Amino acid sequence: MPAFGPSLDQPPGDAPPRGKVWFVGAGPGSPDLLTLRAVECLRQADVVVHDALVPPQVLARVAAAGCLVQAPRGGSGRGPAADDPGTATGWLLVRLAVEGKRVVRLKGGDPTVFARLAEELAPVQQAGLDWEIVPGVTAALAAAAAAGLPLTSRATASSLTLVTGHGAAENHDRIDYATLSRLPGTLAVYMGVEQVRTWAGALLTAGRPADTPVTVVSRCGWPDQRIMPSSLGRCAAGDVGHDCAAPAIVLVGAASDAAASPAVAPGPLTARTVLVTRPAGQATDLMQALAARGATPIALPLVEIGPPPDPGALAAAILAADRYDWIVFASVNGVDAFVSTLRGLGRDGRAIGTARLAAIGTATSRALEDAGFVCDAVPTLQRSEGLLDALGDTVRRGRFLLLRADAGRDILPAGLRAAGHHVDEVAAYTSRPLAALPPAHLAGLDGIGIDWITITSGRIAEAACRLLGARLGAWRVASLSPVTSAVLRRHGIEPHAEAREPTTEGLVAAIVTAGTAGAGDGD
Ligand code: SAH
Repeated sequence: MPAFGPSLDQPPGDAPPRGKVWFVGAGPGSPDLLTLRAVECLRQADVVVHDALVPPQVLARVAAAGCLVQAPRGGSGRGPAADDPGTATGWLLVRLAVEGKRVVRLKGGDPTVFARLAEELAPVQQAGLDWEIVPGVTAALAAAAAAGLPLTSRATASSLTLVTGHGAAENHDRIDYATLSRLPGTLAVYMGVEQVRTWAGALLTAGRPADTPVTVVSRCGWPDQRIMPSSLGRCAAGDVGHDCAAPAIVLVGAASDAAASPAVAPGPLTARTVLVTRPAGQATDLMQALAARGATPIALPLVEIGPPPDPGALAAAILAADRYDWIVFASVNGVDAFVSTLRGLGRDGRAIGTARLAAIGTATSRALEDAGFVCDAVPTLQRSEGLLDALGDTVRRGRFLLLRADAGRDILPAGLRAAGHHVDEVAAYTSRPLAALPPAHLAGLDGIGIDWITITSGRIAEAACRLLGARLGAWRVASLSPVTSAVLRRHGIEPHAEAREPTTEGLVAAIVTAGTAGAGDGD
């Protein structure tokens, strides 16, 4: 990643550290519209200065070590014209960067489009700091994609103009509506809802036909995105925007036949927002399964996975792997740690000799298969008790190696030992609940209306109760298993759905079933 890394090399010797500012586009709101470069910047940032409108699902990509700061709304900065919010933010960036920090200025959409970039940049340049721009998907492009609209077309639209509708009354002289109305193309009107009558009226006066198609996209990429077809005449009459939540963008004249048909067919969880609390890097399966049913999944990791507490012990166990009858993996993390340690030792699959491999569930066995190992046993009941049933009688007085988290349930090792087997356990990774959630994440969650939260282990249940408090009582809670549900109940939370099978599909099915059962009950 050339943009965020090597260029940060600090000056040699005792010279003071020099920070740098990255102006990063966050896209319209949906985290899967972040660029890879933006994600990398967020991962490495010491501090992220963001706007109020950057949603929590995007802020969740900021590494736990990175601190979040909301950009000033004006008047709090230093230097000339600091009452301008852009300039005030620019001075804030300078103050942070001169301390040697990697500062990310995260802006909705693209940082160069209606984003006060010039004002924010001026102090940074004046201070002689390094800076860089990372582009983002601007609202016009995201809105066109959401509505299924071509912004240009060989036949009807040979240009695309980005224009502000804000202050249309004041800008009347400065925006040349006569020229705009003559352009054979699409207008994307940013900040256009408040003064829709003024600018739409000006375009009509300048000669654009009243039946020019218009598409309003409200909160594009957010869980409550709405796409509303209209016409220039109706806009000039003020017939738009009453129930149109900000931010919204108006596309005028875009080739419109496609507009009426939503790009994606609704699924059983359409318009449902679901929090996924699994650790970063392990949420993808669940997020994809939810999105496939129409839900908007939001990643909110509550637990962090870290390296093994004693890497030497893990390496020693793996070097002796061929002495075991069974090697048992209690999670995908265990497989990841096993495979990376094996490779780090310069060994391959032959290291396990004739040992057989067992996985607690299908996701874990799939991870083994992805790494080139065949899994010999996956219990029907995908939890410790099931694994015990499946393995207990396979050998007499067998030798078992258990790769597990640094803490967890003891049912499996205790049961195997009780059956006369020899069991070695090694912690393949650490699993730590987050100490706290940034207030900005919590405030963001409060702003978007969560329908469901998924809880996929007892440890995550504990963390959720501590970190989310009363919010948990306001959302519907989906639990992966009876073990997880028991932990929730101990904290006074009764799950609204529990997976029949403790798998991703089982969990999603439980949410769909509970959602259908609850349809019509008003929530
Ligand atoms: N830099 C941003 C634009 C900021 S100006 C970008 O490139 O998209 C703010 C305006 O952008 C809003 O008034 C609205 O018109 C538009 N906008 C930003 N995010 C939006 C979203 N998620 N959905 C619809 N419009 C959005």
